[in-house]
Amino acid sequence: MNPSVDQHESSPQDGEPVTSGIRSLRELIDVVSGRSIKDQLPQEDAGFAEALPFPFLALVGQQEMKLALCLTLINPAIGGVLLIGPRGTGKTTAVRSLLDLLPQVERSACFYGCLPEDVEAGGMDAICPDCAKKYAEGRSLTIHDRVKLIELPLNARLEDVIGGIDERAAIHNRLLLKRGILAQADLNILYVDEVNLLDNEIVDSILDAAAMGSYTVRRGPISATYRSRFSLVGSMNPEEGNLRAQILDRFGLRVIVQGLADPQERLEAYRRVRAYRQNPRLTISQYAEDSNRAAEEIDQAKKLLPMVKISDEIAGYGIQLIQSLNIDSLRAEITLFEAARAYAAADNRDIVTAADIIEVAPMALRLRTSKFMTNYFLEQSQEDHEIQEKLKTIIPAKARRRATKKGP
Ligand SMILES: [Zn+2]
Repeated sequence: MNPSVDQHESSPQDGEPVTSGIRSLRELIDVVSGRSIKDQLPQEDAGFAEALPFPFLALVGQQEMKLALCLTLINPAIGGVLLIGPRGTGKTTAVRSLLDLLPQVERSACFYGCLPEDVEAGGMDAICPDCAKKYAEGRSLTIHDRVKLIELPLNARLEDVIGGIDERAAIHNRLLLKRGILAQADLNILYVDEVNLLDNEIVDSILDAAAMGSYTVRRGPISATYRSRFSLVGSMNPEEGNLRAQILDRFGLRVIVQGLADPQERLEAYRRVRAYRQNPRLTISQYAEDSNRAAEEIDQAKKLLPMVKISDEIAGYGIQLIQSLNIDSLRAEITLFEAARAYAAADNRDIVTAADIIEVAPMALRLRTSKFMTNYFLEQSQEDHEIQEKLKTIIPAKARRRATKKGP
């Protein structure tokens, strides 16, 4: 999203001494950028999901929730997913179970996040000395890695989310920045449970970072810019409070998660959960083969995605649908078409069909029409009409004509 972000921005301003006892330029760089504390950061792992999650393929029913989550894995451009429903409907279980299916990703091998794109955009000065050496020797700056699932803790403070001064380092008279959860979420999935209960400033920082793909932290004399290109998965129980309209708009897909209606499905879900609680490893092993195959399919769909095209005719249906629903936000088109492309890729096709649009339209477009805005625009156009009518009665026709003639 923003490959030219300068990861080395961390610098003391106006030559102000920020640390003591620095012996070399290299040590200074390490100190102000937080590199020298990378080995002592226990919170780097704090947000990772549990190691033995319920298998995704063992989830009973909830087809739309499962589809939405898979599409998000295939195409991060969808803009994430919001799961809306009461407690106990398996929202968090489903998100954590994605661990089975997480695809491969190409990420920087360097603490500073140096990438080959940085060299293309800004030359050798845009990467750290280690990476410059590697690049010159023709070695890769990136590694294959699995996407990670990062959970935002419910009690996270703004400082945990965006990063801030490392307090332990400050005790030793060193001013260091700590990477926040948003930086750890780069190229990963960030899960925010009960997103409607978070402080506004935290939600805003998450949404801004998600939209920009990067963010900057300034603390006193030091600042740092971090990449944060992640897929956001949120969940909320509408009984516990509403979500501001502008936050709701930032989520791509919206899934209403209800309890299972079919008694057979409920019984099957109970049996599987009971078996898993008694012996999680056995349950996981029973689904391992199918899980591996599903993960492989998601990887393949991801590779196919850049080739998937949508014709003007099919896109026209989508636009017509959005306009007929009086949806204003341009995010509706982005989500609808990106979800349809991911759906086609999952079906191993490089052309989006009308059936793909039909499949993803409800989750891409629901909760996007605003009765308030529709009424507001209607009232505005009535008011404008009224102003024009009053003008006609007040200003004589002759005077009005002269005024328009003078125009450019
Ligand atoms: Zn580097």
